[in-house]
Amino acid sequence: MQIISSLSELRTARLSLTGRVGLVPTMGYLHEGHLSLVRRAKEECDHAIVTIFVNPTQFGANEDLSKYPRDMERDLNLLHPLGVDVVWTPTAEIIYPPGYQTWVEVDALTKGLEGAMRPGHFRGVATVVAKLFNATQPHKAYFGQKDAQQAAVIRRMAVDLNFPLEVIISPTTREADGLAMSSRNKYLNEAERKAATVLFRALSAAKELYEAGERDGETLRRKMKDVLSNESLVQVQYVSCADYDSLEELDVVTGKTLLSMAVYLGKTRLIDNFVLG
Ligand code: AMP
Repeated sequence: MQIISSLSELRTARLSLTGRVGLVPTMGYLHEGHLSLVRRAKEECDHAIVTIFVNPTQFGANEDLSKYPRDMERDLNLLHPLGVDVVWTPTAEIIYPPGYQTWVEVDALTKGLEGAMRPGHFRGVATVVAKLFNATQPHKAYFGQKDAQQAAVIRRMAVDLNFPLEVIISPTTREADGLAMSSRNKYLNEAERKAATVLFRALSAAKELYEAGERDGETLRRKMKDVLSNESLVQVQYVSCADYDSLEELDVVTGKTLLSMAVYLGKTRLIDNFVLG
């Protein structure tokens, strides 16, 4: 496993990889969700490149950039047994050289949901992912369904910018009690951690209604809100029942649909989603 920081060394390492290359971009502090993407990349490609970069431009002014958990040694120890070929850990100066002023913006898809709550977030995400694609030249790039809007934005960007690669969206890895794995779960205290299962419970309740034949978008949103409101530690930011591709809110559910939500548990912001249909 080559551990590389500089761009020139990355390019040399990339040129030496023959066959199909899978890329897994991460911000580190790896958990089983990240590792499931890496395993899949190894299964489906000849080589896997993992990037670890806490991207400053996707954090808002009031967000947790300086506090974002980091543990490079632990991350490398987790990646080593998986047979990863290259780990790229660029510095912010490599990704954003002095005087930086070039951005990738995806339009309508970034207006609602996370985009509405976190202005500028997807500009940072789309820009860094485009740069990671350019630097690593993968055949396939792996992202988690956990970040559903990010997945939609990256799929769109890859098509719009003619990146010659396949974007693969992989299922959300969960704890035994249903909580979606996230680097941010470590911020939760004991009571918050217990309450955090409410996201999975709310999504499950709405899915159950859907499976019983309910197709009214507002009824599904209401169900999720009702379950969330029973948990006193939770502050709901949004609840959505939207078209999977356009992310537009639905009055009536017909095709592939995204149920999603963002809540605060204390100071920790959690998101989760289910895909229906
Ligand atoms: P992050 O380090 O949070 O930027 O996440 C890196 C990649 O891992 C993104 O594509 C995420 O969607 C994905 N990911 C994060 N959590 C999970 C999870 N619980 N299950 C599957 N993928 C995940």
